[in-house]
Amino acid sequence: GGGKALLEVSNLEAWYGESHILHGVGLEIAPGEVVTLLGRNGAGKTTTLRAIMGLVGRRSGSVRYEGRETINDRSDRIARAGIAFCPEERGIFASLDVTENLMLPPVVQPGGLDLDTIYALFPNLKERARSPGTKLSGGEQQMLAIARILRTGAKLLLLDEPTEGLAPVIVQQIGRTIREIKARGFTVLLVEQNFRFAQTVADRHYVMEHGRVVDMVPNSELTASLGRLHEYLGV
Ligand code: ATP
Repeated sequence: GGGKALLEVSNLEAWYGESHILHGVGLEIAPGEVVTLLGRNGAGKTTTLRAIMGLVGRRSGSVRYEGRETINDRSDRIARAGIAFCPEERGIFASLDVTENLMLPPVVQPGGLDLDTIYALFPNLKERARSPGTKLSGGEQQMLAIARILRTGAKLLLLDEPTEGLAPVIVQQIGRTIREIKARGFTVLLVEQNFRFAQTVADRHYVMEHGRVVDMVPNSELTASLGRLHEYLGV
């Protein structure tokens, strides 16, 4: 790497029990970039996010965040360094209202957004401030899951399929949200199955197959690269 990366992953391997899932993942993300992980089901995208976050028990290789090696760190230390993971199931607390959910994650670094700024960015959530988590739509839950990370001061957001199961109009809202947080200097690595959505938000795309990154495509070249990517993506 050239030393300018916010996140630098090389030779990352990971196991679930005896199952060897990642076989040497390599990728780099510069500060302020939005980067996707594309690939078929089972390619290892979610496991890559989880391994970066320290949530896979057995892993090896190198994951450097702001130049510091984290491969042997526990997930709480990785979180305190400024990386946040938003799982596919989003983790909204049903018994808490929107504001309570927003205030729940601990602040890990300076520079997080305050509640007023977050509500200005997410007017839908402001309207639902007193609604319990159970009453939120899938799209509102996804927005809330992203919004509460912004409060913590985390600079790198790992988002696992933020558009999963959402209606097209909500997918567009999520896209606007990701572009806004990028404009505010946050960095995003997201797993995405929705190819067209990925194209509307990302600077670059990594393509995974069988636990490896097999290709990297700048967003501007994505359409022209579809022929080459077809075998990996089935698009
Ligand atoms: P998907 O979109 O289906 O989640 P993915 O690219 O994110 O695809 P992963 O979820 O990372 O893929 O899964 C990679 C491989 O690891 C798959 O073969 C999957 O069956 C396996 N795997 C995932 N989670 C576990 C687990 N907890 N225990 C054992 N194997 C797992």
